[in-house]
Amino acid sequence: MKLSQGQVMTTSKGYIFDIKRFATHDGKGIRTTVFFKGCPLRCKWCQNPEGLSYLPQVLYMESKCMHCLSCVHASKQGGVRCVDHKICISRNIKEDWDAICDVCPTLALSMDAKEYTVEKCVHEILKDEIFFKREGGVTFSGGEPFLQSDFLIDLLKAC
Ligand code: SF4
Repeated sequence: MKLSQGQVMTTSKGYIFDIKRFATHDGKGIRTTVFFKGCPLRCKWCQNPEGLSYLPQVLYMESKCMHCLSCVHASKQGGVRCVDHKICISRNIKEDWDAICDVCPTLALSMDAKEYTVEKCVHEILKDEIFFKREGGVTFSGGEPFLQSDFLIDLLKAC
């Protein structure tokens, strides 16, 4: 669904690491919870450590890896290497991590967050529109949503 004319049109973008549908513990009614990437705090009881880093990071699940080495060949800067028959990831090296994840045939490599436009995020949220007519709604969580305040404000206006 596209935003219609008169609704907020914006070019702001943000990083979201999850959109959970049918959430029943994040406010009144049945809600859609949007998890913003990035948090400046380091609470010991953090429930969502995957939301701590501001930028998307590559995740590697060894149990899914078939050691085809496609990722090693796709790595231009040495961010992925094979050492002693093990895949080694250096996340601090600048790489086209999306492209590297794309060549993995088993999804052993994936990114922990995606970039969303306001329109794309609202499109996802509106899949649960039927629940918003009663007590339900949208909850913005994280991470710390205020770290991406421009994106958050535009999303709120669009909602
Ligand atoms: S591309 Fe995927 S399956 Fe192949 S070696 Fe890399 S992580 Fe493993």
